[in-house]
Amino acid sequence: MKIAILPGDGIGTEIVAQAVRVMDALGLPFETEHALVGGAAYEAHGHPLPAATLALAQSADAVLFGAVGDWKYDTLERALRPEQAILGLRKNLGLFANFRPALCYEQLTDASSLKPELVAGLDILIIRELTGDIYFGQPRGRRESPDGAFAGAEEAFDTMRYSRPEIERIAHVAFQAARQRGKRLTSVDKANVLETFQFWRDIVTEVHAQYPDVELDHMYVDNAAMQLVRAPKRFDVIVTGNMFGDILSDEAAMLTGSIGMLPSASLNASGKGLYEPSHGSAPDIAGKNLANPLATILSVAMMLRFSLHRPDAADRIEAAVRSVLAAGLRTADIWSGGTQKVGTREMGDAVVSALQGRTAKTTIG
Ligand code: NAD
Repeated sequence: MKIAILPGDGIGTEIVAQAVRVMDALGLPFETEHALVGGAAYEAHGHPLPAATLALAQSADAVLFGAVGDWKYDTLERALRPEQAILGLRKNLGLFANFRPALCYEQLTDASSLKPELVAGLDILIIRELTGDIYFGQPRGRRESPDGAFAGAEEAFDTMRYSRPEIERIAHVAFQAARQRGKRLTSVDKANVLETFQFWRDIVTEVHAQYPDVELDHMYVDNAAMQLVRAPKRFDVIVTGNMFGDILSDEAAMLTGSIGMLPSASLNASGKGLYEPSHGSAPDIAGKNLANPLATILSVAMMLRFSLHRPDAADRIEAAVRSVLAAGLRTADIWSGGTQKVGTREMGDAVVSALQGRTAKTTIG
């Protein structure tokens, strides 16, 4: 099992270090290789996704990714900004399906910004299409102007676009995922205003004919945004396009208490995946041992389940995380309800101890 480890920038290096310790503690035959990505790669090699990093990702069975970005790169031309590395990896690895589970751990219901009764037992899955939509349509604006800026420009636009095969394949993935869970799928669109999303709705409805055991409903994105905070437990699996998925999955993240708890997987047609926390590089807390490493550790569990076919090991990690939370350990972002405040490294120590069958508190002292 060859795993490419791409820590990236900011808290990326801190949280990935803890996730790698957890991988080591599993005692499985992983072969890991680290490479630079994002701002760190730009500083060293002049590009956020150097050829060697891409080659490593392509040759690995799975990629563990931290986070990239820093405000100091905001003035760089777009192609050299750290975030371009993620788009490049998605494109080159053919990653089209982004899975973001939003699961509210029993011990963290008080950390949610919603009332505990609205989120207790919450377990929803948002599936976001990653390769189409307005993020990849034809843009016009800064890049066409002679000085690379908007000065003097009269307009700017981006084009929303989806092809039939792109919608069909994400619809199949979503119906299959719903089949493994509560058998309910909500397709989120804006078919009342956008042609692209009427097309989306029609194709999802066509694909549904092959999954009669799954209940399908369609919802406009504005209503979905509202329902996610009004009654999030009404959902089982949500499937949506790239931009709506980007926004709704962050909204769902907060329901669970902290974005620091949410793992994600981006998969291609052959099941190879890139696994990363849902959050960014958090420059505001980087280097302070404050970041919650659990989203990254739980991303390792997703990697074991989806790409490495070791659901037993995934279960072990998730059980270890639950036991650490049950023991009262909390990083600052999920502090509510905790009994012992810990940093990034100590949270990693505790998960490793729990995996090794020792109680969380003994190693922390
Ligand atoms: P962010 O997710 O980095 O941070 C948002 C807030 O959540 C911050 O207050 C941060 O301290 C907090 N936070 C995030 N992760 C946390 C964790 N594990 N533990 C505790 N608190 C955590 O989003 P942002 O501030 O909008 O962006 C910062 C940088 O990250 C930008 O350069 C952005 O482009 C980049 N970014 C990268 C990715 C990625 O690498 N996949 C995703 C989103 C943003």
